[in-house]
This record gives sequence, structure tokens and C-alpha cells, in this order.
Amino acid sequence: MTDSDSDSDPGADMDVDATSLAERVRAGDLRFHELEAHTDADTAAAARRHLVEAQSGASLDTVGAYGFDAAAADANIENMIGAVQIPAGVAGPVSIDGGAASGEYYLPMATTEGALLASVNRGCSVIDRAGGAAARVTAAGMTRAPVFRVESVVEAEALASWVRDNHAALAAAAEETTSHGELLAAKPYVVGDNVFVRFRYDTKDAMGMNMATIATRAACEVIESETPASLVALSGNLCTDKKPAAVNAVEGRGRSVTADVLVPREVVEERLHTTPEAVAEVNTRKNLVGSAKAGSLGFNAHVANVVAAMFLATGQDAAQVVEGSNAITTVEVRESGLYVGVSLASLEVGTVGGGTKLPTQSEGLDVLGVRGGGDPPGEHADALAECVAVGALAGELSLLSALASRHLSSAHESLGR
Ligand code: NAP
Repeated sequence: MTDSDSDSDPGADMDVDATSLAERVRAGDLRFHELEAHTDADTAAAARRHLVEAQSGASLDTVGAYGFDAAAADANIENMIGAVQIPAGVAGPVSIDGGAASGEYYLPMATTEGALLASVNRGCSVIDRAGGAAARVTAAGMTRAPVFRVESVVEAEALASWVRDNHAALAAAAEETTSHGELLAAKPYVVGDNVFVRFRYDTKDAMGMNMATIATRAACEVIESETPASLVALSGNLCTDKKPAAVNAVEGRGRSVTADVLVPREVVEERLHTTPEAVAEVNTRKNLVGSAKAGSLGFNAHVANVVAAMFLATGQDAAQVVEGSNAITTVEVRESGLYVGVSLASLEVGTVGGGTKLPTQSEGLDVLGVRGGGDPPGEHADALAECVAVGALAGELSLLSALASRHLSSAHESLGR
């Protein structure tokens, strides 16, 4: 309910309401984070803008000029003041022969980095000239790894054995909390008097972090009731969510997905102005040797650029770019041309839940034809993973070739400044 009873000009009414609500927050009558309990979501955001503008001196006119109902974001943000708008574009179309994605796709991307879409677009056009890219999801599973306290290694080993012997009981408890999720594995790790159990779920079209967390809480209750172990934290960081971690690179998290292409020699020479040998040398010296010397987890040129831009355009959790860009680019000179493959070990994507429901992000999913649940469930998220992998492949092909032909700095000068 708003405080105004006038219905002549909804915009003006909202402003009056927002101003008076801001006054009430200043007077200590209302709390900043509780405005939605007293008005609609758009008026609450407008009231907060008044308060923030007065305190900071900033003008939030553009932040306030968003094009969706603020109520649509109520599960995505608290203390909303508006929306940050990031330029969105597409690269492509590019032909994808995937396990789930099939056909010609424009790849939606949101970024502020000039030259990025031009680069990925060039890669897409070369991939198309080569007959398209193949892509497959080779493993899938969202993980959550709680940490338990035990008395000693004797109890730790007993707990690890119990977990290995009682998969059915853990699955029954976990799957009670979800109609889509399935427990695939529960793998114990012992470190002194700590036991971590890395639960892995098939979360279908959901990225699955909430789903896996809720299901794991139920499984932990069974462990605590059947063993002497005490749960210390539902996430023990061996999951590993939003932190660089080798466990994700080795065992995977979300989707493990690979895209590859074989580009004929003449296409490399005519379109990329370089040779397969030169691209392979850049990949070996930069992506493999350079990354090894740096102790990097990512052995690629700029996969994070494409993952971040496609995550933003399709409503993925942006912080998961950390593990989403955990990728290895492989290049080989073959008799028929240049083979390039990109393998992303831990790409966490969903087409339901989280930010995917927001209006502009839903439209981004529509561009790929993967909004909402797939048929069968999981197919849309697999297709999205394959499209991101092909985008990453296009980006790698283009940048490695630019480096091989030494015109990287001139492209940035003309496009990005
Ligand atoms: P969610 O929005 O919490 O849940 C999505 C739900 O959609 C599923 O649980 C499922 O309900 C339902 N659903 C409908 N159709 C589905 C289909 N075809 N496939 C799969 N599920 C379907 O999303 P989430 O993916 O579990 O979690 C993503 C959110 O978690 C993001 O907002 C992210 O920012 C946040 N996050 C949470 C944590 C955490 O620790 N909790 C950590 C990182 C990120 P049923 O389960 O009833 O089947």
C-alpha cells in the first residue's frame, strides 16, 4: 500500500510517495531495508534513490530508468535502487553441432570491453566457414561439501565408510527436498579431525546451488543422527563455489563441456592472416608454458571474457565466472588444417531459477531458445553450456590468431578507445 490516495498521475504519485517514505526513513520511523513492507517495489527503490542521492550527491536518474517491474527482482536483490545497464550485443551466427544445441545461433553477450564482440564475431565467422563447431557436455553435477568435526582419525575413517555404505539413505533424504535434483555421489575427504563430504547432484536445468545446499542440509541431518560427527558448516569450501580451486578443474563442477573445430589451412590463411603453425606456437608458448610458469589454473587466452559476457546476458551468477573460466585450450596442426579445442571443466549454468527469471536476461535465453526447463529436463542447461563453450572457442581462435599475426594492439586501438 502506498501513502497516496491520488490516481491522476501514477508517476507523480510515486515520486510523492517515494519522497515522503524517504522522509520517514530519515526521521527513523521506517527502516531503509524494510521499505518494501510499506509500498510497492518500484516506489521503495525510488525512496532509496532519494536517500542515497541526498547522502552522496550522486544523481541516480539513469540507474532509476530501468525497464522492468522491480518486483520481478525481489528474489534477486535487497535494498534495490534501480539497475545498472550493460551494453548487450550478439556474436554470430555460428553453427553448432552439440549434444543438446543444434543449428545456427546468435550468442548474446553483455560487456563494456570494446573489441570483445568483434573478436568473438570474427571467430564465429571462421568457425562457420570451417563448417561449424562441435560441442558436448561430458560430465555434469553441482557440488556442496559440508565439513564435519570428529574426535580422531578412527572416527573420521568410520564416518567416511558410513558415507560410502549408505548412499541410498543420503539420497532419500536429499531428494525429499527437490522434485528435480538427484544425488549422484557423496565423496568423503579426511583431513585430521575434519571430514568433508563432497555431495554431487544432477540439478537438471537449474545451476543448482540453492537446490544442492537445501538437499545437502537434509542429508547432513541423517549423518548427524547416524554417526558421532558434528556438522560445523554446510559449506566447507571443498565444494568449491566462487573461489579458484584445483578440485573444480580436476573433478568438474556444474557442466564440464568441450567445443572444438577443425579450420582448413586456407581459411586460416585467408581469414585470420596467419598459419596453423603460428597459432599452435602461440598456444604452446603462451597458454601452456606461460600459464604453467604462472601457476595458473586457466590454460587459455581469454575464456573469462566470453563466460562473463554470456553469463551477464543470460542471468547466470556472475561470481561463478571464477570457476567458469577454468579452461584449457588445445591446438594442433593437422594435415587438413588447424584443430582448436576449448574444455571448460566447471561451467555452472542454468536456464531456470536465480537471475534467469529477470526480463532482459530471459530475453537473452530466448535468443538461444533455452528459456526455462528443457524437455527432457537438463537439455536447456546443456545447450546453454555448449553455446558458451562455442563462444569461448570463437574467442580463443580469434585472439590466438590475432597474436599470431601480431595485430592485437592495432585492433584494440581502433575498436576499444
Ligand atoms: P533456485 O532459483 O533456487 O531454484 C530453482 C528451482 O527451479 C529448482 O530447485 C527446481 O525446484 C525448480 N525447477 C523447475 N524446473 C526445473 C528444471 N527443469 N530443472 C531444474 N530445476 C527446475 O535456483 P538454483 O539453481 O538452485 O540456485 C541458483 C541461485 O543460487 C542463484 O540465485 C545463485 O545466485 C544462488 N546461489 C546460492 C548459493 C547458496 O549457497 N545457497 C551459492 C551460490 C549461488 P525443485 O527443487 O523443487 O525441483
